[in-house]
Amino acid sequence: LADKLAHNERLASIGRFAAGVAHEIGNPVTGIACLAQNLKFETESPLVLESGEQILDQTKRISRIVQSLVRFAHTGRQDHSTQHDPVDIYACITEAIQLVSLDTRGRHQRYQNDVPPALQVVGDMQQLLQIFVNLLNNACDASPEQGLISISAEREDEKVIIRMLDEGSGIPAELQDRLFEPFFTTKDPGKGTGLGLALVYNIIEEHYGNIEILSPANKKQNKGTLVVITLPGLPPSEL
Ligand code: ADP
Repeated sequence: LADKLAHNERLASIGRFAAGVAHEIGNPVTGIACLAQNLKFETESPLVLESGEQILDQTKRISRIVQSLVRFAHTGRQDHSTQHDPVDIYACITEAIQLVSLDTRGRHQRYQNDVPPALQVVGDMQQLLQIFVNLLNNACDASPEQGLISISAEREDEKVIIRMLDEGSGIPAELQDRLFEPFFTTKDPGKGTGLGLALVYNIIEEHYGNIEILSPANKKQNKGTLVVITLPGLPPSEL
């Protein structure tokens, strides 16, 4: 319990820090983007045009990082209220797959939604969507082109267990303990912020759920990652 409290306090303080940083950085970055946009309209010089374009690209990159900080800070807050509504897992996964497959990262993967219909959990649709988008993004980043990402789910007593399996690189055993650490990433700067799984962890905690990341999951080929999430299910009587 002491470990857990320390972990939660650490997350909360990182959340406060993240909110501060995001706020301080967000406004000037928006300013810089506007100025770069002006340059593009007011010049004929190819060098200035090209530089304006590159400044805009870089500010977009910073904005993405700031956005994930804001999301992370938001779920880490103690006073933050999570909705507890019935959420249909099939619909949630379908929407997450749709969002991810529209993005350049996820365009070249194959997805299989094996979740049965009418399986509901108690939770916050937007936050649950965020979990699956983050997990799918990670699976895409680790996967070869046309790799299969499959998601299944089943009810077990009062719980719903959701499994996401990919055919990607897998996760070395020595990194397993660090996955949920905020800012832990093995990706290139600009590609990863290391906040994805930390955010997933926060959201699952708020849903009284549990997450395990098992890798290598695909023992035969010694690769792939299996993510197992447990969430409180909606009693069948309330369906
Ligand atoms: P980010 O995606 O920004 O790196 P995350 O917190 O989402 O941050 O993930 C942390 C790290 O966990 C990744 O950098 C990667 O090394 C590892 N990881 C997460 N999911 C997978 C996966 N499905 N396959 C392989 N590695 C993964």
